[in-house]
Amino acid sequence: MPKFIFITGGVISSLGKGIASASIGKILESRGLKVTLMKLDPYINVDPGTMNPYQHGEVYVTEDGAETDLDLGHYERFTNSKITKFNNVTTGQVYNTVISKERRGDYLGKTIQVIPHITNEIKDRIKKVAKVSAAEVILVEVGGTVGDIESLPFLEAARQFRIDAGYNNTLYIHLTLVPYIKVAGEIKTKPTQHSVGTLREIGIQPDILICRTEKTLSDEVKEKISLFCNIRKEAVIEAKDVDSIYQLPLVFKNQILDEIILSHFSLICKFSDLKDWDKDVVQKALLPKEKVKIAFVGKYIQLQDAYKSVYEALIHAGIANDARVEIIKVDSEDIEKHTARKFLEGVSGVLVPGGFGSRGVEGKIKAIQFARENNIPFLGLCLGMQCAVIEFSRNACGLKKANSTEFNSKTPYPVISLLEEQKRVKDMGGTMRLGAYACAVKRKTKAGDLYKKDLIHERHRHRYEFNNKYKKLLEKKGLVFSGIYPKGNLVEIVELKNHPFFVAVQFHPEFKSKPDKAHPLFRGFIERALEKSILS
Ligand code: GLN
Repeated sequence: MPKFIFITGGVISSLGKGIASASIGKILESRGLKVTLMKLDPYINVDPGTMNPYQHGEVYVTEDGAETDLDLGHYERFTNSKITKFNNVTTGQVYNTVISKERRGDYLGKTIQVIPHITNEIKDRIKKVAKVSAAEVILVEVGGTVGDIESLPFLEAARQFRIDAGYNNTLYIHLTLVPYIKVAGEIKTKPTQHSVGTLREIGIQPDILICRTEKTLSDEVKEKISLFCNIRKEAVIEAKDVDSIYQLPLVFKNQILDEIILSHFSLICKFSDLKDWDKDVVQKALLPKEKVKIAFVGKYIQLQDAYKSVYEALIHAGIANDARVEIIKVDSEDIEKHTARKFLEGVSGVLVPGGFGSRGVEGKIKAIQFARENNIPFLGLCLGMQCAVIEFSRNACGLKKANSTEFNSKTPYPVISLLEEQKRVKDMGGTMRLGAYACAVKRKTKAGDLYKKDLIHERHRHRYEFNNKYKKLLEKKGLVFSGIYPKGNLVEIVELKNHPFFVAVQFHPEFKSKPDKAHPLFRGFIERALEKSILS
């Protein structure tokens, strides 16, 4: 029988429930357990793929092509669990299935209700993940904050799970905020008491409490929380703010959270001290030798979450190069209003991430031109590659009005355009080129040198493609096509020969980068940027 851990959140959102869940996954995995993590999201969208980044932040793409919540990115970065389309369940998916079953007549004349039909569907989806993953521990993060109307069916399903699976096979962890009130000079436990109280009204008594706090919790405060929330004192875990998110598994480990969980489950596991993680990830992240400035040219830069995986991949590349990557966020629309030089002078690398729609595109193109002409290391991701192709066509091949048909359907030189199959698409949800595709990498190119493999698999999320009609001309002018999707003959990687580092990819390498295993392209990019910063 697998073990199930439900992680809920209270008081406020943005407490870092995803990172806390991933960290618990990490400490359990380090004890030799096979873990997987899943997220239950209370919104009615079937998936976040159709949501604006302002609404949702990054859309994380899994290997099997699901568009999911960004917390699934944390799960994959912290643990070895293979996250699939089953690991993100939304209210929209649950109702979609139940309503389709009702229309088919599967319920044999019954009245369809939240309990048991919706809750059963939720439980079935959790059991499905347990089965597909064959994990020994399944961590189920419940989105939203306790007290929200939307998440009630998920919490009810979580409550029922203990009846179905048994006390010893289920565990409830509640993440809460213990604020420090400056003017009073005091730490306040009342919001936590209320939040646990609300959870109890729903029928869930948490077994473990994780307290987000800016100050250390005294024994007295822990005792108070323990008494009022009905939780053993050792199970009141402090989660003080950390400088690097990768410290969190160690913070939990130091409070023997892994032991508390294992003893609840009556599991005996091998010992682990997470020494490698501490040495290879945490210490490198906290105390790097070098520093490198990278300009990040995007249009959602005000939002912390919009490019989550790309920021993390840059941090990982910094760890691999013993350097702190200082990310200078540049709004591509600002470049349109001024010059690229104004914002990019003095940086050691330029990164242009993915994106949709024409807003800010011309600024990205100008940034790429500046990086190309001034020998600044450049990495382009998805739209970043498309912009690099447009820039090169316009400024190095004389195709002045070259563009993507996404931004100008009447361009005389559609160097980026839609494939026939995409032209036929009517529904916007889940119909892009999604998930992992093979890419044949040319040896003796930058990509070949970094990947050191002939065939790689990388994740995609886009509709538009490089237009092969222009391949010969661009090649003649010096663009190297170093990665091709063999089945469809689609361009995946372009680069320049006579440039310190100019690599752009149609896929999203950021989704496969890990703190202890930086992605080769990001690693190579930061390595070159570092060389440049040391030279200048
Ligand atoms: N908008 C572009 C496309 O759809 C690029 C997408 C992206 O960067 N993820 O092809």
